[in-house]
Amino acid sequence: MNDINFLADKRSHLIDLFQELENAKKISVKDLASQIRKIGFQCIRCGDCCTGEDNSVIVFPSEIRLISRSTGESWFEIVEPPKLGEWDLAGNFHTLEWRLKKRHLSCKYYTLRGCMIYEERPLLCKTYPFFLTLAKGLLCFSECNGFGKEIRNEESEELADILVERLIEEIKESIALIEKFDGFERGIPSKEGLCIVHDSEGEHRSNWDLHRH
Ligand code: SF4
Repeated sequence: MNDINFLADKRSHLIDLFQELENAKKISVKDLASQIRKIGFQCIRCGDCCTGEDNSVIVFPSEIRLISRSTGESWFEIVEPPKLGEWDLAGNFHTLEWRLKKRHLSCKYYTLRGCMIYEERPLLCKTYPFFLTLAKGLLCFSECNGFGKEIRNEESEELADILVERLIEEIKESIALIEKFDGFERGIPSKEGLCIVHDSEGEHRSNWDLHRH
């Protein structure tokens, strides 16, 4: 579907994202680190963020490839598409991101000894519980048992640096996704078609059976 409205929306989305990218590159790591120190944070390795229904780790294609190189697992052993998406006229399901697979309610890489892919864990995990808002780069945070604990200067600066890296990667991923996305006409839910995930690499098509649990 390449109608004029779709292309105009795509262009205006891209203009906004390129502006957000420029803004993200100007974020002061030192200021961000100082905000983190005021809040206070130490990971107490409770594992709460790796377990439970709220655990949902969105990963970029480059991160999936990194985990695959380290573990020897295939793409679909590592990730699955989210359940939210839309169908096209041919009954194919479309969605826009990848999530790490879960085992029961926990991330599949969580063990009582900690994260099995600690060195290659996604940026989302490296920066949890903090994140920066896309539009303004404001520091926000999710629930965590480690708040209020003293954090050293170097650690807060390292965390702030990775937060900015994550924001820049998120924006670049969105730009690449939108540049490659051609849209589709909406249909009704069906289990007959394919599952199509659109990401910065283009379209990944897979059979639904692969994602049924
Ligand atoms: S990848 Fe590692 S750090 Fe991230 S949620 Fe899974 S077990 Fe936790």
